[in-house]
Amino acid sequence: MSDTAHIAIQKRDSLTSFNDFGLAEPILRALAEEKYETPTPIQSQTIPIACQGRDVIGIAQTGTGKTAAFALPILNRLYAKRQRPAQKACRVLVLSPTRELSGQIADSFRAYGRHLRPLEIALAIGGVSIRPQARALARGVEVLVATPGRLLDLVNQRSLRLDQIEVLVLDEADRMLDMGFIHDIRRIVAMLPRERQTLFFSATMPPEVTKLSAHMLRDPARVAVTPQATTAERVDQRVILTEKAAKPALLAELLNAEPIDRVLVFTRTKHGADKVVRLLNKAGLAADAIHGNKSQGQRERALAAFRDGRIRTLIATDIAARGIDVDGVSHVVNYDLPNVPESYVHRIGRTARAGRAGIAISFCDHEERPFLRDIERLIRMSIPSTDRRSTQRPAHRPAAQHPGQRQQHGRPNHRGNRPPRRHGGSNGQHAALAPHPHGRPPERERGEPSGLGNVKFLQRSPGPRRSAGPGTAN
Ligand code: AMP
Repeated sequence: MSDTAHIAIQKRDSLTSFNDFGLAEPILRALAEEKYETPTPIQSQTIPIACQGRDVIGIAQTGTGKTAAFALPILNRLYAKRQRPAQKACRVLVLSPTRELSGQIADSFRAYGRHLRPLEIALAIGGVSIRPQARALARGVEVLVATPGRLLDLVNQRSLRLDQIEVLVLDEADRMLDMGFIHDIRRIVAMLPRERQTLFFSATMPPEVTKLSAHMLRDPARVAVTPQATTAERVDQRVILTEKAAKPALLAELLNAEPIDRVLVFTRTKHGADKVVRLLNKAGLAADAIHGNKSQGQRERALAAFRDGRIRTLIATDIAARGIDVDGVSHVVNYDLPNVPESYVHRIGRTARAGRAGIAISFCDHEERPFLRDIERLIRMSIPSTDRRSTQRPAHRPAAQHPGQRQQHGRPNHRGNRPPRRHGGSNGQHAALAPHPHGRPPERERGEPSGLGNVKFLQRSPGPRRSAGPGTAN
């Protein structure tokens, strides 16, 4: 990567209206119909650069408006340079890790491009018949949104050629690698024309992702809306320390007690997701699950019911939930904490989308304490906790701390304490993680009862905002 690749991080941008980007009128009309008034920070930063034809690395989570950040410059290009795609070819390829996310990206292209003609948008995802997809590609399309496996199937059966691609988008690159798509991606990239524009998006930039980006991009501009691997600022995060066996009752209690609009509940396993659905149904609470063992039809039905409010509780595993784009998810509950800390960031990114406020509540049992420590290390803050364990152990937890009070790791804080060591150890603990002098949870000590009715974090944050201005960039 060249020097310029490292310097193009624009913290804020003076562009505050979509009209400032020089986008074609039919696109601006569609945006007005979508009621997008203000570009989000990732849009303000990405759109002008991508419109110049430059490669971009965007570090942004889902929920920041990144789909429009790449879709709008692409649609503008297709509008400015109208030409029929060759048979079995596409002009723009968007690679995404899951079927759900791919469907949502294709829908976004359709929405923003609704006044552009001709504009053929096709979807190539697994889990459904390949034949209609091959037929849709026969005459060529402008935009193809695909998961890597199905894309290669289409190429192998000669229903698709990749030698005409002008723009490649790789979305959620970190998750692609987590899901084992690295070889498929490299195979696909090897078939593309060298002369192309590449737009590369990832929520985090671990070294393997950086390596992949170096292989795929030419002199990219780098844009970022959250510091690498930090948690969405607007999510109010809390932990409830609990026993494993008490989690079902705790979840039912929480769902009954709270004014929750829509809640996504995460479990580590598919089996766990089904179990939670059964438990909730038994407690008289409507819930459904989406995970890899569900058919495409079942997943779509569950998502539709969640989206239109027929069920307000959806249980999901990490992979299935990737890319779920449902507005108004007020709460995320981590019924199990993820063992991969980055997944926590992805999970809580399902709420607080496009500038709204959201609440993330994590249940943490004894075995999950190391996961919690890893998460706190990654997001560089300690998450305020409440102790709901029946037997009181030394809490080793901080008093409730405002999410804004971030603690930087790696150097002493203002009191001169050392940061925590991996997987704890009392000597190396951070001030905020230090054991309470009396070995009791601070919340209890202040005389608060343990009932959920008294847990402050369950109150909703200020009302939803439709658009996020550049002021939220960091
Ligand atoms: P994304 O990060 O692309 O998944 O977008 C998250 C949500 O924000 C989607 O529901 C978009 O429709 C919405 N959105 C994206 N950009 C804007 C904007 N500028 N103003 C309002 N809503 C937006």
